[in-house]
Amino acid sequence: MSQKKSSQSLTFPMPVDTHVHLTLGGDPFENAHRQLAAGVAVVRDAGDRDASLDGLELPSALTVVRTGPAIFKKGSYGSFLGENRDLTLSEIIARTPSSFVKVILTGLVSFDVYGEVGRQQWSFAELSEIVRMAAAVGKKVMVHVNSDKACREAVNAGVHSLEHGYFIAFETLEMMAEKGVYWAPTVAAMANQSRDPDGRFSVDQLAIIERNYKRHMEMIQFAHANGVKLTIGTDSGSYNVPHGSSFLREMEIFAEAGIPVTEVWRIATENGRQLLGLEGEPLLSIDQGQPLASLLDKSKFLLNHQCRPPTFLFR
Ligand SMILES: [Zn+2]
Repeated sequence: MSQKKSSQSLTFPMPVDTHVHLTLGGDPFENAHRQLAAGVAVVRDAGDRDASLDGLELPSALTVVRTGPAIFKKGSYGSFLGENRDLTLSEIIARTPSSFVKVILTGLVSFDVYGEVGRQQWSFAELSEIVRMAAAVGKKVMVHVNSDKACREAVNAGVHSLEHGYFIAFETLEMMAEKGVYWAPTVAAMANQSRDPDGRFSVDQLAIIERNYKRHMEMIQFAHANGVKLTIGTDSGSYNVPHGSSFLREMEIFAEAGIPVTEVWRIATENGRQLLGLEGEPLLSIDQGQPLASLLDKSKFLLNHQCRPPTFLFR
């Protein structure tokens, strides 16, 4: 890739969404195209119940890192993303198609009672064992988790990244910074619910949703200020979280939370690449001070006009 360098320009890798669900919210092929059309070059698919991405041919310009079916406890939240067959934990871990294993630790955030979260599925000892088993075959754990207790246990169990993390405490974020644990807060997924396009929520529920995402923005700002490795993970494909456009939305909320735009862009690109351990991805040269949307437009242009080899990873 040719790059024009000037004194005021910086180079970054291409944008990375560290948490999407290509099989949710529409046809996977179209969803992948929506990601590219928004300027996203790399996605990590965070749970695909039937491993249906195995047999699909997706646009080659999009690098897709897949976790396959998620690990959840039968009878608990997660059957729509998880491995529903009777396999042992080591069999499930061995089947995951990349070096990332998705574990569901808790349920969803309640919109009826502020601070309430669906119950924890795995004890600290069980989660630690899953992390150990994954590490034994060279894999890392990304964990769906809400509630501070569960977040803290996940960090202590040695997970690689926290996904969502609603109600996390300042002290837990400090532990994450110290241990180098990544965090994808997926704040747009909550913020979008407050717009309630389908008129689904009551006034009281909307007040709780608003409170949830305002608190989350505060934690994102604190996380950034205290050295937590944030990433842009949108949870695209879940309700009210469209593929593609949610990437800009998540970045804009980070900026609204008080993170400088150049830092948001670094989080959206460099941190995502580091989380995935990707090397040698094409670099995008940007001028400082450009709005986030125009940076994404630039990466979109490059994706449309640069020939990239097929990079369907870890297949
Ligand atoms: Zn998700």
